[in-house]
Amino acid sequence: MINLETPKKFEFLVSQAHQVATEIFRSNSRKYDADEHSYPKELDMLAAVIDGMNEGGALSGAGAGGVGESNGSGKARDGNRNGSNMASLLGLVELSWGDVGLLLTMPRQGLGQAAIAAVANVEQLKRFGGKWAAMAITEPEAGSDSAAIRTTATLDEKTGEYVLNGEKIFVTAGDRAELIVVWATLDRNQGRAAIKSFVVERDNPGLILERLEHKLGIRASDTADFRLEDCRIPKDNLLGSPEIEPKRGFAGVMQTFDNTRPLVAGMAIGVARACLERTRELLTEAGVEIDYDLPPHAQVAAASEFIAMESDWEAARLLTMQAAWMADNKKPNSLQASMAKAKAGRTATDIALRCVALCGSVGYGEGELLEKWARDVKILDLFEGTQQIQQLIVARQLLGKTSAELK
Ligand SMILES: Cc1cc2nc3c(=O)[nH]c(=O)nc-3n(C[C@H](O)[C@H](O)[C@H](O)COP(=O)(O)OP(=O)(O)OC[C@H]3O[C@@H](n4cnc5c(N)ncnc54)[C@H](O)[C@@H]3O)c2cc1C
Repeated sequence: MINLETPKKFEFLVSQAHQVATEIFRSNSRKYDADEHSYPKELDMLAAVIDGMNEGGALSGAGAGGVGESNGSGKARDGNRNGSNMASLLGLVELSWGDVGLLLTMPRQGLGQAAIAAVANVEQLKRFGGKWAAMAITEPEAGSDSAAIRTTATLDEKTGEYVLNGEKIFVTAGDRAELIVVWATLDRNQGRAAIKSFVVERDNPGLILERLEHKLGIRASDTADFRLEDCRIPKDNLLGSPEIEPKRGFAGVMQTFDNTRPLVAGMAIGVARACLERTRELLTEAGVEIDYDLPPHAQVAAASEFIAMESDWEAARLLTMQAAWMADNKKPNSLQASMAKAKAGRTATDIALRCVALCGSVGYGEGELLEKWARDVKILDLFEGTQQIQQLIVARQLLGKTSAELK
């Protein structure tokens, strides 16, 4: 049975992640927000520490790098499991509480690892595991509608290589990662079933960096646009089965989202908690008392609004934990992953802006991180599928409609 308390065995992981978030992320938050595109070198030292801790098992799963091995460690009683998905989620919540932009550019992490874990075979897991992997799905003509992908992968029988051609935009950590998981089609005439994911080494000469984006938030994280020009990769860098199975449709590559959406929801939970905690401190300093024993109408408006935000946050957190728990327990979680992402993305964005409003000019000024968090948080409601797309997926699942029937 599901138990939505933080599992005891992950308490150490959470406290380590919190320490990193406090000492390294928070203290460098402003620096890399202001200095967009400069590499946060402080994170190299952190990566080395995390590698050491991973060897000892302490911080494994503190980021997206540890996600997805559904047979991860830690079988609980009665066959229930809190494994690598839950560990990653809890670690990410803490790190995002520190700074979500820096988290997104943390070496050895990257949402591409979740894609690898979702569909790679044992040999590929060994070869690519532990590397910093970005994920390149979006194209100029394919954003929400990933089935519209135009990048092609053609097998060169002579050399045993796939040759990739196309354009990929908005790739988080695209410039800094070691690997990029690229979605491409084996045959544009065969629709979504022909879309597969391919691992491309960042230094492949056929992967050409076009530009780095300038952004509203998460400015510590690089967002890269690429051209793939006769980009040759070994045949066995195709993740999963090379067969085009029309019946399975998109299922192979889409499995990635079942892993990544709860994690992005977790990032939103982390940022929103940072906003709530700081707002509470500022309200307390301003003499506003929050009394959980009083009904809303008997409190000052700010306290009553704060309690409402907290309960909304708690609902988002529980949904997100449920989605990760289901992934660890091999239960189909597409519906819950989208519900969690929709709820957490929307709630966190709402909380961040309301916290800025509650704190007035203090909240809006650069003297506080609240204004930065309000900028950072919006992306969590956009990438890995926007708010509207998550709602569409939820509606399709609840109504039993296909993507052709409900667009
Ligand atoms: C900072 C940043 C980082 C990113 N990182 C990555 C990454 O690492 N890898 C990657 O592959 N992509 C990444 N993306 C791309 C991101 O996933 C897309 O921007 C997102 O999927 C939306 O696609 P789009 O921008 O083309 O918008 P569109 O698909 O053009 O959508 C525009 C608007 O229309 C709405 N809409 C679209 N279709 C429907 C529908 N059927 N019903 C109702 N509303 C709809 C959308 O919700 C949105 O509000 C990143 C984007 C940003 C900004």
